[in-house]
Amino acid sequence: MANKEIPYKIYLEESEMPKAWYNLRADMKNKPAPLLDPATGKPMTAEDLSSVFCEELARQEVDEDTAYFPIPDEILSFYKMYRPAPLVRAYCLEEKLKTPAKIYYKFEGNNTSGSHKLNSAIAQAYYAKKQGLVGVTTETGAGQWGTALSMACAYLGLDCKVYMVKVSYEQKPFRREVMRTYGASVTASPSMNTQVGRQILEKHPGTGGSLGCAISEAVEVATNTPGYRYVLGSVLNQVMLHQSIIGLEAKAAMDKYDIKPDIIIGCAGGGSNLGGLIAPFMGEKLRGEADYRFIAVEPASCPSLTRGTFAYDYCDTGMVCPLAKMYTLGSNYIPAPNHAGGLRYHGMSPILSQLRADGLLEAISVPQTEVFAAAEFFARAEGTLPAPESSHAIKAAIDEAIRCRETGEEKTILFGLTGTGYFDMYAYEKFHDGKMTDYVPTDEEIKTAFTYLPDMTKYDV
Ligand SMILES: *Cc1c(COP(=O)(O)O)cnc(C)c1O
Repeated sequence: MANKEIPYKIYLEESEMPKAWYNLRADMKNKPAPLLDPATGKPMTAEDLSSVFCEELARQEVDEDTAYFPIPDEILSFYKMYRPAPLVRAYCLEEKLKTPAKIYYKFEGNNTSGSHKLNSAIAQAYYAKKQGLVGVTTETGAGQWGTALSMACAYLGLDCKVYMVKVSYEQKPFRREVMRTYGASVTASPSMNTQVGRQILEKHPGTGGSLGCAISEAVEVATNTPGYRYVLGSVLNQVMLHQSIIGLEAKAAMDKYDIKPDIIIGCAGGGSNLGGLIAPFMGEKLRGEADYRFIAVEPASCPSLTRGTFAYDYCDTGMVCPLAKMYTLGSNYIPAPNHAGGLRYHGMSPILSQLRADGLLEAISVPQTEVFAAAEFFARAEGTLPAPESSHAIKAAIDEAIRCRETGEEKTILFGLTGTGYFDMYAYEKFHDGKMTDYVPTDEEIKTAFTYLPDMTKYDV
């Protein structure tokens, strides 16, 4: 074993915890493109957005200048129940890989909902409550976001209506029950409750649903129910802002021991954990104070950053949400069944998309059987059972560490371990039984999906 002058787990004292979220946009020279109104093609103001989102969240969404947003005391108290999240030095993994690399991971699975999503869920529920709303609606795919939001709403006494993608509603009954334990109502999507749900069911009876469709349903219910707003667990700028807590804590913990990562890696679904993890480090890079490599890892079956196009697109299947400029596979793209439910979104955060377009963020995609092999290797080395989503980052971190073994370089690698895999044992079972497949879409399929991108020439702006 290496000489452990760095502890296995680096914690922060309460007094050392971040008191403000960091808004990376403030330091970006090329700002992410604004959300557009799908009816007019005009940029949406905070006021336009506040018919769907809470007012304060709408303000955060469009603010690209304020660098720091103080975290309200109530949210800080909630954070103290499960934060700081540990920063772990993966000594056992390093040993097993026989690598000279130093590997650290920031573990966000340390709360009942099991992922980083709680960091933004509590913020969004707090602003809804402060605005005097009765409740919020949302969608959930794999179930992590719905669980996180249920917990946050229960804490604040808000109603929570979750539209859960039907396949996962059926495959993950325990996730559903956790949400109900925290008082949320959970509906399988598409449902007969909404106009968009009924339309989709008529066109595709027996469909297992999709995230884009569940979003459309949740938005419709929010806009038609007085006292409700819609909240979203990823992609949006406001979510990146709240998730900056991950990177701020990680950086504070590393600074305590004078550790400087060379490579920072995260899985990317809608981009919130990666955006949050890299935020303060990317800020330094943008200000010319330090340099890092940043790597986004996505599934080969849903490769928005690596094979998508950088264009304005619909955020949902029903085309009711604002248009976002992002790397996208097209809102009609239905990824092949992949067990990392949280990484199946067709688009990507506009902030991360802009960083990618500017050459500041690398992106790779990996096939799922290799991801599960890495997950199992990690579980056996480090003890923690990782979520399939998080295991994309594990896979990339292990590959970098192996490269270091081959070149003898002593790089420092930091990756985000976003959650635990207890509700994903069906996927692990498939892997163990050798029944997991690696579907990679053909260029032809991706090109076909692009034909559904909105025709921007129709807007006179
Ligand atoms: C939702 C989720 C992700 C992916 O979402 P991002 O917004 O890209 O972070 C990754 N890991 C876990 C455990 C998740 O629940």
